[in-house]
Amino acid sequence: MARKKQADSEIQPAPVPAEAPARKSGFVSIIGRTNVGKSTLLNQILRHKVSIISDKPQTTRTRIMGVHTEARGQVVFFDTPGVHKPGHELNRRMVQHIHDALQGGDLLLHLIDVTQPFGQGEQFTLDLVKGSGVKAVLVINKIDLIRKGKILEVIDHYRQMHEYAAIIPVSALTGDGMEELVDEVFSLLPEGDLLYDEDYLTNCPDRFMAAEFVREKVLRHTRQELPFTTAVLVELWDESRLETDKLLRIEATILVERDSQKAIIIGRQGQKLKEIGTEARHDIEIHLGVHVFLGLFVKVKENWRNNPTILQQLGLQQ
Ligand code: GDP
Ligand code: MG
Repeated sequence: MARKKQADSEIQPAPVPAEAPARKSGFVSIIGRTNVGKSTLLNQILRHKVSIISDKPQTTRTRIMGVHTEARGQVVFFDTPGVHKPGHELNRRMVQHIHDALQGGDLLLHLIDVTQPFGQGEQFTLDLVKGSGVKAVLVINKIDLIRKGKILEVIDHYRQMHEYAAIIPVSALTGDGMEELVDEVFSLLPEGDLLYDEDYLTNCPDRFMAAEFVREKVLRHTRQELPFTTAVLVELWDESRLETDKLLRIEATILVERDSQKAIIIGRQGQKLKEIGTEARHDIEIHLGVHVFLGLFVKVKENWRNNPTILQQLGLQQ
């Protein structure tokens, strides 16, 4: 018996040391109609706010990068403007960002809002997903708002429309389903080394982020008409007291298209502008980890959405 055992062990291959599985990495674009929760999803995965959120359409105007790094690898996410038909020059450039996101990349997350019925807009997005030829995961969002049975109906419906690599129900708001989603993303990505340093979060410049946080608060404090007509330009970025006092001084201008809009943003005795400033400063301080003095101004600039210089300043260059 003893000999046999020895003979067996002689022909067995040497035990393979338990190695960590190879790391994965890749580019993943999040696409879907406006308001389905794309930006909320990205922030939830990263546990850091890189993309601003509102209940108004067309909040996200450019492609926002967010890098998620773990021991098993790195995912470079791109949040995109909501899929819609272009009108203004601003919209045309936003749509271009969506098309850029569809080209190349390793994976698409096609996000839908489970509370919204399937309509033309969803069909349009679905056609973009199909046409891209890129592997896609269907992410069914806002499941916190509906009953379970409804999710199954939606899964069934989409299964017949496209061959998704996976279908995952989530709530980007509560974080429900995030782990399953991130697991799925890693399983679908190719093996590869880290693409960026492990603490790299976004390629969005600090100035851009500051302007975005201000814009988010403007959207939060105003109604439907303003989202399309508001832009924020950073005019002063003073780091001279950063070393000594950890204080950053920022001045920014909120652009609107009409006097009436200017009055709305400023509010009675400047109250609304003050609230916008306080909330935006808070977010900028969290994002940058320094104290911020934020000065805000409101300016009327008719037709800025067709002004190439301003669009360039907003990062919406060709
Ligand atoms: P985007 O236009 O696709 O980027 O959508 P946003 O991330 O800006 O979110 C649009 C709105 O939907 C915001 O008011 C979010 O708070 C809300 N929202 C996003 N995800 C969820 C979710 O899972 N559940 C609920 N109840 N609301 C959500
Ligand atoms: Mg968004």
